Amino acid sequence: MTAAILDGKALAEELRATFKARVAALTAQGQRPGLAVILVGEDTASEVYVRNKVNACEAAGIFSQKITYPADVAPGTVLLKIAELNFDPAIHGILVQLPLPRQFDEKAVLAAIAPEKDVDGFHAENVGALAQGAPRFIPCTPYGVMKMLAAHNINLAGKEAVVIGRSNIVGKPMTLLLINAGATVTVCNSKTRDLALHTRRADILVAALGKPRFITADMVKPGAVVIDVGINRLPEGGKLCGDVDFENVKAIASLITPVPGGVGPMTVAMLLANTIESAERKNQP
Ligand code: NAP
Repeated sequence: MTAAILDGKALAEELRATFKARVAALTAQGQRPGLAVILVGEDTASEVYVRNKVNACEAAGIFSQKITYPADVAPGTVLLKIAELNFDPAIHGILVQLPLPRQFDEKAVLAAIAPEKDVDGFHAENVGALAQGAPRFIPCTPYGVMKMLAAHNINLAGKEAVVIGRSNIVGKPMTLLLINAGATVTVCNSKTRDLALHTRRADILVAALGKPRFITADMVKPGAVVIDVGINRLPEGGKLCGDVDFENVKAIASLITPVPGGVGPMTVAMLLANTIESAERKNQP
């Protein structure tokens, strides 16, 4: 069997085409969606991510505001800015690019964002709502994965799903979404004994561990759906690769996401979706 490719780039483009009409309708009603992105420091990867997000907003007609601070900024300055943005009627989404420099308490920063503008879905109130099965904002990366699965009519109820990684950004919200969809979910981490024992049982395997080509063909059940969240830069030549050994795993999986061009573009698309949803909620009578 050779797996079909879950093309995140194409699906993201399809979605973004539908966003334009929603943004135009909101703008016509005086509620143009607006996203504020805060970037602290000069981390190259973060700068690229922020640039992609701002460009994607512009292409969709969403107002975007990029706010940058030097790495040694006082946390109070950033918190004050967040407080201001919380009350800014032109802003429907606030995103603080992570990771933050050492002097910051990341939890305190995320808690400062108004939950109704928390388009990353990292505020404890929004995490709680997701855990209860009534999400307000779904974190962008797992939201994108769910959209990809839905686009391929993958019914999750009763399926064995295995998530590798338990981060707040990917692994945990991914797990909650799969649970809410009726899958039987196993979550693995770096302490898991015999990882392959778990991964080989997976009908749906989500790799989010951040280790290049770690998931090899012998760890995958024939016919499995394999979602590769990982983005790793190979030391030789700086080429991007995922957490899955794509070439070999694609020979036995039924569906697989490539890296690049899989989950990555969907993450940006879902950030736009969350910002538009936020503006639509505010626009309700
Ligand atoms: P993270 O915070 O470093 O979390 C990695 C998780 O993987 C941890 O829970 C860790 O376990 C677990 N892990 C590490 N080695 C393992 C092993 N050998 N076996 C089993 N579990 C292992 O990373 P993250 O933020 O979740 O990101 C994961 C990957 O996704 C990274 O490559 C990142 O760049 C990528 N990413 C991609 C997107 C996208 O849009 N495509 C978005 C976000 C992240 P412990 O908890 O025990 O340490």
